[in-house]
Amino acid sequence: MTKSIVIVGGGTAGWMTAAYLKVTFRDSLSITLVESANVPTIGVGEATFSTVRRYFQHLGLDEREWMPECDATYKLAIRFEDWRADGHYFYHPFERPRVVEGFSLADWWLHARPSDRFDQDTAVLAALCDNLRSPRYLDGTMLERDFVVPDEDRLSRAGFEGDTQFPYAFHFDAAKLAGYLTEFGVRRGVQHVLDDVVEVVHGDRGAIDGIRTREHGIISGDLFIDCTGFKALLLNKALGVPFQSYQQYLPNDSAVALRVPTDMATNGIRPCTTATARDAGWIWTIPLYRRIGTGYVYSSEYCGPDEAEQSLRRFVGARAEGLEANHIRMRIGRSESSWVKNCVAIGLSSGFVEPLESTGIFFIQNAIEQLVKHFPSGEDDDLLREAYNQQVAHVMDGVRDFLVLHYYAAARQDNQYWKDAKTRPLPDSLAERIELWKAKLPDESTVFPYFHGFEPYSYAVMLLGLGGLPVRPLPALANLDASAARREFELVREQGQILVDRLPSQYEYFAHLRDPG
Ligand code: FAD
Repeated sequence: MTKSIVIVGGGTAGWMTAAYLKVTFRDSLSITLVESANVPTIGVGEATFSTVRRYFQHLGLDEREWMPECDATYKLAIRFEDWRADGHYFYHPFERPRVVEGFSLADWWLHARPSDRFDQDTAVLAALCDNLRSPRYLDGTMLERDFVVPDEDRLSRAGFEGDTQFPYAFHFDAAKLAGYLTEFGVRRGVQHVLDDVVEVVHGDRGAIDGIRTREHGIISGDLFIDCTGFKALLLNKALGVPFQSYQQYLPNDSAVALRVPTDMATNGIRPCTTATARDAGWIWTIPLYRRIGTGYVYSSEYCGPDEAEQSLRRFVGARAEGLEANHIRMRIGRSESSWVKNCVAIGLSSGFVEPLESTGIFFIQNAIEQLVKHFPSGEDDDLLREAYNQQVAHVMDGVRDFLVLHYYAAARQDNQYWKDAKTRPLPDSLAERIELWKAKLPDESTVFPYFHGFEPYSYAVMLLGLGGLPVRPLPALANLDASAARREFELVREQGQILVDRLPSQYEYFAHLRDPG
């Protein structure tokens, strides 16, 4: 029986894991978290995916309480700028295209081309992003999903649903969230040890018996969770589990980040993460309540750290003056197995892909939920481990493929970096899928076949937004009456406008939450 857990590392992964396991297992499990005061956390990782809502719900945390504490904001989409050509942008929203006459509105769009803005024609959230709206009214009510169609006796429904496709995720200050979860975990009985792990003590058959700390001696446990970040001190270093790099497919291996204080009352808060293509990668912009988190993700093959920092400072402008830059070397790929013997790696120690679709915290959440589902009971633990490892590997491999598509399908080809993105080898079977997607937009039977967080619609949105691959409409649509689809395109635009007119701005929403007056 597993009765005691030792988590090493107090970044987002360590504290998310400690809080979730404590809430799940209560006092039947003792949890100790050891973190070093000398090794800083990565300090970035502030945009999430809409499933993260489930994590906070499990902890019983009300977003009206934790969001202001963590300077959090809503994220309805990712805005991709300059991936097709300078000045072009489109959204990848948390909203599925609707279905009309049995075909996705994405297929109808390709056939009918009602405008040159696929996102605006198929997603109400695109209008909300353009107009800096909040997805909630000042009284906390969610934006409408159902609209009565004028002069027609029916409802028209936006493509987001309660549990499966929720219309928003969060941005938050990573340090504040870690602090919030620390307090949450400690209040519920997580033992917090501030110390350096200096050695991993092996027991029978190579499992981990304990960790030797500088000042607290050896700390023993039944199960050890490695949340030591890119170092992966327990899984990769002590147990020698190999790491599989994805770098041949995704060459970005470096980042430089800035925290930019910003007056949101004047500038407003855009309810999306922005990913702006640059000469050797792309720049993220994450708007929080009091500042912007921004960083340049780039490949060191094409750009040095000084040049990257200068590009980022130019991009930010005068507000970047005097700010300290955080340079980060990224390890892209995954551990061959994330759970070996009595050690599970969660977070950067398990695996990571560049944050283009904000998947780092999603990987953590997935790993924690899967650990709970595969929790070792003393019987059939080998089978549980094996099943866990497969699921976690599939999630990361699937996201890798989706990200590779971003570069391959981007129309931008103005320098060697973007030209090379079109000729790099593709992961197994992705090349075949891409050929098929040119003739038929992705659906459930042609995307990566295991759960990895992205639905087929996300692939279609990226193909249509990135604009670099010749995708063709379905011949069958030429023989069908397109009037219902055309009406739905108009309705999406009308409903988007209604919401823009009714909803408060994102800044107003959070200012009101802090001070209802
Ligand atoms: P870390 O934050 O590195 O924490 C490691 C911990 O281990 C620290 O507490 C440290 O003190 C401890 N430690 C290390 N050695 C020892 C030792 N010897 N003894 C004791 N303790 C030790 N994810 C997203 O979801 N969205 C994003 O937008 C996003 N952007 C990112 C941008 C970049 C450039 C990078 C690199 C990552 C990004 N991520 C993002 C990923 C996200 O930041 C991480 O998944 C998340 O922060 C979890 O990190 P971690 O806790 O695994 O590691």
